[in-house]
Amino acid sequence: DWILHNGEFIRENELNVSKEDRGYQFGDGIYEVIRVYEGNLFTAAEHIDRFYESAEKIKIVIPFTKDVFHKQMYDLVEMNEIDNGQVYVQVTRGDAIRQHHFPQATSPVIVAYTKKVERPVEMMEAGVKAKFIEDIRWLRCDIKSLNLLGNVLAKQEAHEDGSYEAILHRGEVVTEGSSSNMYGLKNGVIYTHPASNLILNGITRRVILNLCKELGITVQETAFTKTEALEMDEFFMSSTTAEIMPIIQIDGQDIGDGVPGELTQKLQQAFEANLKLTVKS
Ligand code: PMP
Repeated sequence: DWILHNGEFIRENELNVSKEDRGYQFGDGIYEVIRVYEGNLFTAAEHIDRFYESAEKIKIVIPFTKDVFHKQMYDLVEMNEIDNGQVYVQVTRGDAIRQHHFPQATSPVIVAYTKKVERPVEMMEAGVKAKFIEDIRWLRCDIKSLNLLGNVLAKQEAHEDGSYEAILHRGEVVTEGSSSNMYGLKNGVIYTHPASNLILNGITRRVILNLCKELGITVQETAFTKTEALEMDEFFMSSTTAEIMPIIQIDGQDIGDGVPGELTQKLQQAFEANLKLTVKS
């Protein structure tokens, strides 16, 4: 496979990353994951916008226009003949003698690669289990930072418990998943944490909120508690790779009837229909 390194297409074994790359030593960088469906980048513009926004929030300047960057991602997918899969792209502050403050003259290092991934259709049909875990991350979760230790530790704890995802909470308040956004449905209304500094405003989340508008489903971007979560009629999570994933059990307790909810399934169908439209155009 080809990979992209600072705008150049190279082979994987040709990649040379410094021992003092600030991404490697400090996690000083940001990233994106873009889904590829039938050779097309899904919601690419939104992901590219967020990539530039995250970079700006940590004062890294991407040395390409968004259009050039978009074309690079598109070419990479085409060169690697990715049908269903994803692009991973990250930028670090670059290579410099190790010291905490920003180096004076360093160029950012951008690396992108592709991977073939199928849609998790069986899990999306059956639903998954989740586990509550205290959200111990920092207060800028709106940045898609390479620093993922808080997320990694939470996911590992959930994984060891046999759960698919960790539902993070600060005190009583549910924020998001370790790599997803969280939603509960009660009496026909969908609740999800507002897009503040405490969550990553998922691109899938934005697609879902738009779909809800089209379908006439009321959404309240209002945080809910752990207790309220357990009393929801339906529960689901969303991410670029998991799409809309029903959560049927939290901490061993059934949510609703313990099967994927009706409205969750309706949203999944709408998402899929939207996908076909987007991919074709
Ligand atoms: N929150 C966190 C912490 C995440 O890592 C992700 C996945 N990148 C999301 C939410 C969902 O974002 P998206 O829908 O853009 O993949």
